This record gives sequence, C-alpha cells and structure tokens, in this order.
Amino acid sequence: MRALTWQGTRKVSVETVPDPVLQQPDDAIVQITSSAICGSDLHLYEVLGPYMDAGDIVGHEPMGVVVDAGPEAGVRAGDRVVVPFNVSCGHCWMCTRGLQSQCETTQVREYGSGAALLGFSRLYGSVPGGQAEYLRVPHAGYGLIPVGSDLPDHRYLFLSDILPTAWQGVQYAGTRAGDTLAVYGLGPVGQLCARIGVHLGARVFGIDPEPERRAMAARHGVEVFDAEDSTADAIRDVTDGRGPDAVVDAVGMEAHGSPVGKLAHRVTALMPDAVGRKLMETGGIDRLAALHSAIDLVRRGGTLSLSGVYGGQASPMPLLSLFDKQVQMRMGQCNVKSWISDLLPLVEDSRDPLGLDDLVTHRLSLEDAPTGYEMFQGKTDGCIKVVLDPSL
Ligand code: NAD
Ligand code: ZN
Ligand code: ZN
Repeated sequence: MRALTWQGTRKVSVETVPDPVLQQPDDAIVQITSSAICGSDLHLYEVLGPYMDAGDIVGHEPMGVVVDAGPEAGVRAGDRVVVPFNVSCGHCWMCTRGLQSQCETTQVREYGSGAALLGFSRLYGSVPGGQAEYLRVPHAGYGLIPVGSDLPDHRYLFLSDILPTAWQGVQYAGTRAGDTLAVYGLGPVGQLCARIGVHLGARVFGIDPEPERRAMAARHGVEVFDAEDSTADAIRDVTDGRGPDAVVDAVGMEAHGSPVGKLAHRVTALMPDAVGRKLMETGGIDRLAALHSAIDLVRRGGTLSLSGVYGGQASPMPLLSLFDKQVQMRMGQCNVKSWISDLLPLVEDSRDPLGLDDLVTHRLSLEDAPTGYEMFQGKTDGCIKVVLDPSL
C-alpha cells in the first residue's frame, strides 16, 4: 500500500510499504477514506525529530471502512468507523475510569508515558499511523467508533482527536453558560475549543497571531485578539479588570507567535539527536511563551486548561504566580472514548452547531501531503486544517 512516512526533519514522503495484516483476535484493518494532519504531527515533523526513525508511518486522525476484522474485533467488513488516536483496551483500571490516555494495557514508558498512540513512533509505542491507504487498529472492539453513512467524512473525522480534545479542554476549564473563556491558539484545536465555549453559552476570547485564523474564529462568535504584549490588558479591560474565568492553551510547545518560541524550535531542529533529546528532557529551551501568557491572563482563582502538548521534564514554571493567583490547572492527552457520547449528537445535528463544515481548508492526495505539511506548518495559503484522501 501507499503510506506517508517520516523521512527527516521537515521531510515526509509517500512510500510503498507492506499492507497491514491482522495480528490479534481484536484487530481490524480499516481502509482509510480521510486522514487529517494535526498540530501534533507538526511536533513530530520538526522539534520531535530526534525521536523519529526514517520510514515511520505518521498520522493519527483517520476514518474509513473496515475491510478485515479478527473474531473479537466487534466490527465487520463494510462498517464505517472513526479511529481514535488513543490505543486503549477498554477493560483496565484506567480505561474503566474513562482515562483511556492512561490505558495500563497499552502503556508506554520509554520516553513519556501514557497509552500507545497511533502514528507517534517510538514516543508512544511505535504503532504505525493512519496517513496511509490501510491501517491496522489494535483493540478495535473497544476503540473504533461506528458511524452512520449519511454525513460526509469531515463531520465525523474529528471525533478521532481534535473534537474530543477541544471538548475535554473546555470541560477541564469548567466553562459554563455566562462564564468568560480565553483560548490561546486558533489552530484547529483552538477553533473547536472556542466554538464549544460559544456553544456552551460562554463569552469567548480567541488569541492567535494569524489573521486568517482570527477571522475564522470571529465568524463563529469569538472575540479575537492578536498575540501581542497588550492583549492580556485588552482582555482584562473587558472582564472587569480581573481576566477570564478560564484560559485554554491550545498552542503547546511550538509558540510560533513568539520570537523566542520560533527561534527555539528552529534551533532544536538543527541539533544532533543526542543534544536535541537532552534539551527536550531537561526543558532547557523556553517553549512556554503561550503558557506564560495564559498564566498571566487567567483571573485569580480561575482555571487553566492545557490542550496544547508540552515536552520537557523540568520546564521552568512561575510557581509563585500560580500559587498566589490560586490557579487550578488541568491537562493531558485527550481520553477520546470518554467524550463520544456527548459529541456524536452535536456532530450529527443538521444545524452543525460546532461549524464542522468550514474547518477543513484543504483536501489533498497522499502524494500532496508534503505540501500539506508545509502549508499547515507555515500557515500559508489560508491553511487551517488539511485532510488527506488516499483515493485522490
Ligand atoms: P496548530 O499548530 O495549527 O495551532 C497552534 C496555533 O497557535 C497556531 O494557529 C499558531 O498561530 C498559534 N500560536 C502560536 N504561538 C502563539 C502565541 N504565542 N499565542 C497565541 N497563539 C499562538 O495546531 P493544532 O492542531 O490546533 O494543535 C494545537 C496544540 O494542541 C498542539 O500542541 C497539539 O499537539 C495539541 N493537541 C493536543 C491534543 C491532546 O490530546 N491534548 C490533541 C491534539 C492536539
Ligand atoms: Zn491530532
Ligand atoms: Zn486500558
């Protein structure tokens, strides 16, 4: 089959690789119809390069049709399914408590720790990813999300990752009707966080250096701001001087908006493997520009929710500010399966309350994926969310 593989820092290419085959009784093979590129793929594309091996198949936001299934997979050939990016068993202590990202059956301890993930190479269990024609899905009986046949792929696709990620981010922010919520980063995750906040009845502020991303959020009822030093004061001015009740950080460790973050991620990309890895482990580089802004902005006694991914075991944090402001923080990899019952009705609602119909700006063939990565990373050509279609 054809699959998109990591070949080096900022280099992906389509290669012909062996078709995946069933290995366990609860495996399924899915023929991919849509597979999105995520901000997390951009981390692998560049700053996490030291953890990648040439030839690794990337991608963790796929959906498609089951073509083969083991006797315990719980699905049959022909079923239309979305594939969550967490590989989780459904029956361990963590899974039964809704913490699929901490699944004890698939847990990986080599670098970070947590459940195995599709398409994250050595970092999370070396499970081949879904930017490919076919994908083997481990623990398919629990993991796969069966969906109907009436709606187009893009309405269901984001259940694989960014929609439950955004939902979890806003749930962890504790946002309710009448609250104020700020969202740092208006990439695909931040767009959905902001729309979910609006849907729940909150007043939502969105912050991003990219004008096209701000414009998209503004179309969905979000009050938008550039990522500038004066932004926190501007938002405090309209929240009785206190700042918003909660802030979601949907940027993560590549704060392109800040000169420091931009420089840091370029510099690490050029490091020899061992040095780059050491920096990631010690947090010796400041990639926390958006996080520090979020800590500054959130009101006293408010909540900070981190959807963005951070690396580095010893990243410096302003503990005095966090303590004095009495900030609550929640974070982590999304527990996809825990939120599906909340989200399916919204996804299938004919009024499209989360605006899923306008998130995808580019639908490309696997062969055009290198251009897709380049545009998504560079935020050029109006690129906000890229979906790969192996049939093109
Ligand atoms: P993205 O790269 O498109 O979005 C990041 C956005 O942040 C961009 O629009 C960028 O312009 C903006 N930005 C950069 N610096 C900023 C700053 N200083 N202030 C405000 N905005 C700034 O990626 P995405 O797909 O939206 O993903 C966002 C983050 O969410 C990534 O870190 C990704 O790894 C993470 N993520 C986490 C989970 C999870 O399970 N927790 C799941 C999916 C994605
Ligand atoms: Zn993702
Ligand atoms: Zn489990």
